[in-house]
Amino acid sequence: MRIIRFLDDGNQERFGHDFRDGTAALLTGMPQAKLRNAGRRLRVAKLLAPVAPAAILCVGLNYAQHARELGIAAPRYPVLFMKNPAALNHPGDPILLPPSCQNPPQVDFEAELAVVIGRAAKNVSATQALDYVLGYTIGNDISARQWQQEAGAGQWVRGKSFDTFCPLGPELVTPDLVADPQDLRIVCTLNGKTMQDASTADMIFPVAELIEYLSDDMTLLPNTVILTGTPAGVGFTREPAVFLQPGDLVEVSIAGLGMLRSPVAAG
Ligand code: ZN
Repeated sequence: MRIIRFLDDGNQERFGHDFRDGTAALLTGMPQAKLRNAGRRLRVAKLLAPVAPAAILCVGLNYAQHARELGIAAPRYPVLFMKNPAALNHPGDPILLPPSCQNPPQVDFEAELAVVIGRAAKNVSATQALDYVLGYTIGNDISARQWQQEAGAGQWVRGKSFDTFCPLGPELVTPDLVADPQDLRIVCTLNGKTMQDASTADMIFPVAELIEYLSDDMTLLPNTVILTGTPAGVGFTREPAVFLQPGDLVEVSIAGLGMLRSPVAAG
C-alpha cells in the first residue's frame, strides 16, 4: 500500500491511499496497527510528511562512491547523527534558508532512502530487521555545511537540524511493494539538472545491517525515521561548489517510491 498522511478540508489529520487527482481513499486506524478502508474518498487539502517522526536517525558516509569523493576511507561502523524532529518538512513545502546560512551560501541537498520503523526494535538481528520496517519513503537531508563542520564544533546536529531541513515523503510505501531496498535507483535533480544518480546497492551498510547496529542496546521507537545516507554528487563536493538559493527546486526520486519536490526560499 502507498499511504499518505494529509489534512482534510476540516483541517483534520487523516491517512489515505490511492492518492490521485487531489483526493485519496480514506483509511482509518494507524499505519502501525491495522488500517482499514473507510469506503469513501476525501479531498486532500494539504499533503503531510507520511509520518511524524519519533526520532530522525541519520547515517553519514554510507555510499562507497560518496566516501571516495570525500577522500575518506569507508567507515568501520556507521557514522551516526540525528536531526531534530522539528526540522520535518512536508512534500512541496519550501526549504527555508535562514540568514545565518546565507553569508556565505552553504545549504546543501542530500537525497536519501528513508526507512520508517513500525514497532519498537531492540537488539534486532539483521536477518529479522526488515520485519520491523513499516515502510519506505524519500528523505532530503538538508545540510548547512559551515554549521555542520567548523561552526558546529565537531558535531553535525546543528547544521542538520534547522527548521524545514528534513523534507520527507510523499508516500509511505509498505515493504510488500519494495522487493529489495538495496536495488533502488535514487536520483536528485536541482532545477532539472541531475546532481545525484546512484543505486542503493552502493550502500556500505545496507538497511538490515543499519537496523541491527542502531537497535543494539538502544530502542528504536515506532515512527523512528532512519535516513540511510546520501550517494555521491552533493553540492559542496563539486568544483565549483553548488549551494541552494532562493527560487531553486530540488527533486528527489527513488524507484517505486515517487518523487519528493521541495522549492527553496529565503527564511
Ligand atoms: Zn545525509
